Amino acid sequence: MTAFWTEADFDDHELVQLVRDRRSGLTAIIALHSTHLGPAAGGTRFWHYADAGEAMRDALRLSRGMSYKNAMAGLPMGGGKAVILAGEDKAKTPDMLAAFGDAVEALGGRYVTAEDVGIGESDMVAVSQRTDYVSGLPVSGEGAAGGDPGPFTAMGIYHGIKAAVRYKLGKDSVEGVHVAIQGTGSVGGGVARLLAKDGARLTLSDINQARAAELAEELGAQTAAPDAIMGVACDVFSPNALGAILDEDGIARLDTPIVAGGANNQLARAHHGRMLAERGILYAPDYVINAGGIISVTLEYLARRNGTPSDINEVRKRIARIPERLEEVWRKSDESGQSPDVVADRMAQELIGRG
Ligand code: NAD
Repeated sequence: MTAFWTEADFDDHELVQLVRDRRSGLTAIIALHSTHLGPAAGGTRFWHYADAGEAMRDALRLSRGMSYKNAMAGLPMGGGKAVILAGEDKAKTPDMLAAFGDAVEALGGRYVTAEDVGIGESDMVAVSQRTDYVSGLPVSGEGAAGGDPGPFTAMGIYHGIKAAVRYKLGKDSVEGVHVAIQGTGSVGGGVARLLAKDGARLTLSDINQARAAELAEELGAQTAAPDAIMGVACDVFSPNALGAILDEDGIARLDTPIVAGGANNQLARAHHGRMLAERGILYAPDYVINAGGIISVTLEYLARRNGTPSDINEVRKRIARIPERLEEVWRKSDESGQSPDVVADRMAQELIGRG
């Protein structure tokens, strides 16, 4: 493994811990980027990595992303992330999850975990048998916050798209506004449904073409092939599938004044934010617009810790404030001439005491 302190992705992380449990076969990395604003919060990824260096880079990069996301969402949480290094067969056992829970518990609350790629709600329930430092547990009772973060993420993106349309196109409504959506899963599908209610014109695309077609039928939308969606002439391109889609080729294909969607790490490299700005495309930084899910799981967690009932209305209120943050980023971007991704990073760094 490359020494992590020479890794380009190492950013003065407060703690990077390798967890090994021979009995269960667990190998994991827990990276705490910052606890300046509160306990480091961020999910656990279960993934088969080509090598340990790749796992380390993922943990370092994702945990820093969580610091930024939580700070910009105004949450009293720092940023962290765990990755469990799955074998090629991706076997996941109760013993492994128990050992992982023990490792989280041993950090004494400096790290709060949740679901991420490869880890579902039932896995988090298993981890919660060993530690209380867990969020994203099933919702208990009417009006309670928590559970699947996807619909809350979608809600934030919907508000963010409306803000972008107002800011860039000067329109107060998305009625008749053409939005091209890449990925119609939990997040993209939710965004599509919310926009359809407001009368937006939608073009949907998914590598699972039957999924996109079914939703298009339900909402009266068009579909586009997965390799065509980025070139669709539209008012908003909303990426809700993969990361790193905004590279030289992807940006050159875009025929839209706005990019606003929920996929994590949309910019392939840092300079691609500038490329979007140079093409006159307004970009909603991914970790600002897609914070709805983390807002929900964090409020659920804090309520449980404090022994108070969680409140879905408070979650909704906070998600409805995502546009204010985006508008602040875009205004500062216009004033400074720096691209929105650079402005957002600076704002987040200041919030976590690293300005
Ligand atoms: P999901 O698995 O429910 O949906 C993803 C969809 O994208 C699937 O339908 C898949 O078939 C499709 N897809 C994959 N590759 C594609 C491609 N090349 N072109 C078109 N479609 C493609 O996942 P999700 O929870 O909706 O998450 C979507 C994105 O949002 C991911 O990048 C995720 O990291 C990010 N995100 C999700 C949440 C959340 O709360 N779920 C929160 C923040 C960010």
